[in-house]
Formats: sequence, structure tokens, C-alpha cells
Amino acid sequence: MGANESTGEGPTRSTRRTFLSASAVATAATVAVPLTTGPTAAQAARPAGPGHPARPQTPDRELRALLREVDRDRIEAIVRRLAAFGTRHTLSRQDDPARGIGAARDWIFEQLSGYAAASGGRMTVELQSYVQEPASRIPVATRITNVVATLRGDVSPNRVYVVTGHYDSRATDVMDAVSDAPGADDDASGVAVLMELARVLATRRSEATIVLAAVAGEEQGLYGSAYLAKQLKAAGVDVQGMFSNDIIGSSTADDGTRDPRAVRLFAEGVPTAETPAEASTRQSVGGENDSPSRQLARFVSDVAENGATGMRVRVIYRRDRYLRGSDHISFLREGWPAGRFTEPNEDFAHQHQDVRLVDGVQYGDLPEFCDFDYITRVALVNGAVLWSLAQAPGTPKGATIVTTNLTNDTTLRWQRGDEPDLAGYEVVWRETTAAEWQRVIPVGAVTEVTVDLSKDNVFFGVRAVDRDGHRSPVAFPRPGS
Ligand SMILES: [Zn+2]
Repeated sequence: MGANESTGEGPTRSTRRTFLSASAVATAATVAVPLTTGPTAAQAARPAGPGHPARPQTPDRELRALLREVDRDRIEAIVRRLAAFGTRHTLSRQDDPARGIGAARDWIFEQLSGYAAASGGRMTVELQSYVQEPASRIPVATRITNVVATLRGDVSPNRVYVVTGHYDSRATDVMDAVSDAPGADDDASGVAVLMELARVLATRRSEATIVLAAVAGEEQGLYGSAYLAKQLKAAGVDVQGMFSNDIIGSSTADDGTRDPRAVRLFAEGVPTAETPAEASTRQSVGGENDSPSRQLARFVSDVAENGATGMRVRVIYRRDRYLRGSDHISFLREGWPAGRFTEPNEDFAHQHQDVRLVDGVQYGDLPEFCDFDYITRVALVNGAVLWSLAQAPGTPKGATIVTTNLTNDTTLRWQRGDEPDLAGYEVVWRETTAAEWQRVIPVGAVTEVTVDLSKDNVFFGVRAVDRDGHRSPVAFPRPGS
């Protein structure tokens, strides 16, 4: 069935977990009690000043066609096949053809290689492996293998966007390599997303490079993704965005709450890899809500909340959930913008649990608890984001807010990108209390502009635009000369 055909959702219960819809937020803003100083919430939402209101980027025809190819039935088949390996624990057998992580690794490699065969040589698939010496949750030297599909960009091959899911799984005891650990939601669902996107993208030309990686060792401590990130770093590539899809298999919580048209995106504020000098700048002029990961999250909302995905992206302003972490952290540690997609409501009886029946309650991460229509929509979100990133110009480099003199206007500078279809730039700005960019000033093919607004009172950013209207994520300028 095509991804965009309507699917039976069943009633959505409204409970404490249901968050405000956009219209409810707008209503709340207009009835806010005016502050004695500064703008009211309503004024902040519609600030006076240069530019036009910021609007989402609508998917173009090419993107819509791509998303229509995403196939729910293939996604279901992948999740069920991965669960059928019994366990995919990192410490499980690697030489058994039917059970264990080795069998899963070989099957994923075979599938991705099959997709890549249709790419005319643009997509390559590799088994990327190393031996992890004994460490936390790794009692004996263990080979850890990522299965990595790379669609090489035609125009900017060194600019890279990465999507991962982890194919290892676990039971109740994180060191139990023998018991059944079907890992359907955690995280066959994320692997199914990247595999199906690999199939759909293999037949297309991308401007930037797209890496789709099934990583291992996540449950033992993010080992596979850490290795992937270090390999990319060593290769000198410019990773401008990364997303971990981890537990995106269901939208139903333990109390029955359903939110089948929302996905959470965890995005950190203060960067994991912030240097002392960057911290000092942030302490003096702000920017704790303007990390590269937050700009990436704003980009995701901009390009992926629309009729082509049928989804809302609930951005969460933290690195990950309490007591949890995922593979995006490996990329944050390398200083790259990254976030984690995860389902909106969780049922902990179906994660990290031995498969068992207790008082009539089924525990375990089984495919029967997955919602394959939901996983398909999360794949659409990832597809919209990846394609919009990879066809747009890169995020502007060297963005600077000029602070040589005290002035009541604002001068911004940046470096010109080298994409042949680059059309120019847009300056974006917002009230400092607003979460989203509010106004857009098209400034053309320049690398410096002065805006008649005080840099002391608002936040500024710069983004690139190509001739087709594809926009890059925003660069947040640093003070300089
Ligand atoms: Zn996981």
C-alpha cells in the first residue's frame, strides 16, 4: 500500500499527554496577560520590523514523488524479519546463519546491496567493523559492525547528512546475549526506516551525500555510532546534520494514549561539544537556544510538517529522555548538529523486556505492538528532511555579527557557498523570547548586509537559498569583525 493512502487510525484519546495543537497555542498567545515591559506574547509572535513572515517550505514535486514510493508493507516485512533473528544482542553469535546479530548483519547488508544495485554506482554499501576491546558492557573483545549505505552527492559530495537506526537489541538484562530479544520497536523500526529510504533514494541523484547506517552496539553504549562518527571525522567530511531513529515503532502509551500523527525530535540547546570560548560568548550574548542542533530541529519542522508526511514534529528542547541516550550523542560529541526521533508516547512493558506473560500481560518488544502505518509516516518525515537538506545549499559558513563598534543597527557577514545553483541568502530574525524564526529578509547574492534593527534586541540568523527555492538550515552568527 502506498504511504499516502489513508489508514484507519481509531479514536485518539485526549489525555494529559496530548500536547497543545498549533491553534491552541495561538489562542493561548492572544489571551496572554500583557507584560509591564517588553512585548506581549502576541506582539512577540508578530514583531514589527523588516522582512516578511517566516513560512514553512512546501515539498516540491520531486520530493512528493519520492515520498509516494515509501512502502508500508516493505517496512512491516523488514521489522518482522529483524525480529525473527531471535536476538540481535551485540554479544550474541556472529556465525550462526539463522539466529543472532551476525545473521541480522548479513541480511541487512544483502538487502541494502540489492537496493544499491539500482543506483548506477552512486550508492555503495559496506560492512564497517572494528574490534571493541573489553569495556563497559563489553566483557570480552567483540567485533562490532555497522552496515552503511552511502549515496554519494553529485554536487557537494563532502557535505554529508546521516540517518541511523540501531540493529542490535536487548532483553531485560543488558548483558543477556542468549534470551529472545526481538527488538521490534527498539530498534528494528528505525532500521526499517533507513532501509526503506535507501531503497527509494538509490534511484535518485542527490546534490549532497546521504549516509544511511544500521549501527550496532547501541544498547551496550553507543559503540557502533561512535565508530561511524569517528570514521567520518577521520575522512574529513562535513557532517551538517544527523538523525537517530530509535524507538519509532508505535504511538501508543501504556495507558492507551495514542498520538499517531506526531513524532518527537530531541534536540539539545547548549552543545555537548561546546568549547570554553564558545561558552564564554554564550554567557555574554545568549544563544543557548541557537545551537546548530536547534537550527536543524527548526529546519525539520519547516520541511516535514505538511500534507506529504501527515505528521507533526514535536521538538523537545533536551538532548534525550531522562535515563536514556541514543546514537545522535556520538555525533554531538564530534561537534555536529544532530537529533533523535522517537515515538510520542511509550510503553515500557515493550522495551528492554524479556518476552514473557505475567498475569495475562504480554511483555517484550514484539512486532505485534508496532504500528506499521506510524513507522511509515516517520519514514516520510525522515525522507522529507533528508531530501530537503541534500538538495538545498549547505548551511552558511563563517556567519558573523559585526561587533567592532557600538551601533543601533546590525551588520552580518558570511562566506559564499560554492553550490552552482546557489541563488543568494536570507537573513532571519526573531524576538529573543520566541522559539521560532519569525521574519525573513531576502538579501540576494551578497555576503554582507546591514539591517536596521538593533542586534541587542533580537536574534539573527542567515540561510542560503538555491534557484529552486530550497533553503538551508540557519547559521547562527558569532560576534566578530
Ligand atoms: Zn534503542
